[in-house]
Amino acid sequence: MYKVKPEDVIPTRTSDEAFALDDLFTPTQKEAEKLARVWGQMAKQFNNPTSLTTLMRVVHLFVDTRMKPFAKQSVCAVGCSFCCKLDVQINEIEARYIEENTGYKVEKANRVKVLNNDYCPFHDDETATCKIYEYRPLSCRWFFTADSYEYCLDPNVAHAISAENGIPADPHLKELRSIIDRANTGDEGDIRNFFR
Ligand code: SF4
Repeated sequence: MYKVKPEDVIPTRTSDEAFALDDLFTPTQKEAEKLARVWGQMAKQFNNPTSLTTLMRVVHLFVDTRMKPFAKQSVCAVGCSFCCKLDVQINEIEARYIEENTGYKVEKANRVKVLNNDYCPFHDDETATCKIYEYRPLSCRWFFTADSYEYCLDPNVAHAISAENGIPADPHLKELRSIIDRANTGDEGDIRNFFR
């Protein structure tokens, strides 16, 4: 059960208001310079990976830095975790990274998600927080809502969210997803199919 009710703490906007925020997706010059540096480090790691952990840390640093301008403008806040009921697509590389760094063991199975009522296995129901926050996958790192958390209750409603195919329309994020998918030689699917 939630300790904090989202409606008590989370502001909402209409989608039109969210899309109208000019600086929603724009990194500052300093952030843009950092992004370029991290992209360079990431490219080196892809060509000559020293370890899965090092590679994924650089990947996560890039995504977190890129999403910062959007995150600052989003309505997402502690106390809301409705998006943890949505599908969370990961691949074997991300599953192994979580296993190596958190101790949770990969246990593959074809688990059927119950519509939009089934939380991710790493969701802490008491606090509405993520038990593996530092190591959470890309799908969670680039997902923010800019209009209203209420839309996250229905995955079929189009609204102002970020993701690699949403906003910002950033070719780097798409490229990154495709690099990681190409590097993956194992399975891919919903996080519930890797962990219980
Ligand atoms: S990994 Fe964490 S942030 Fe991602 S869906 Fe699961 S509980 Fe939520």
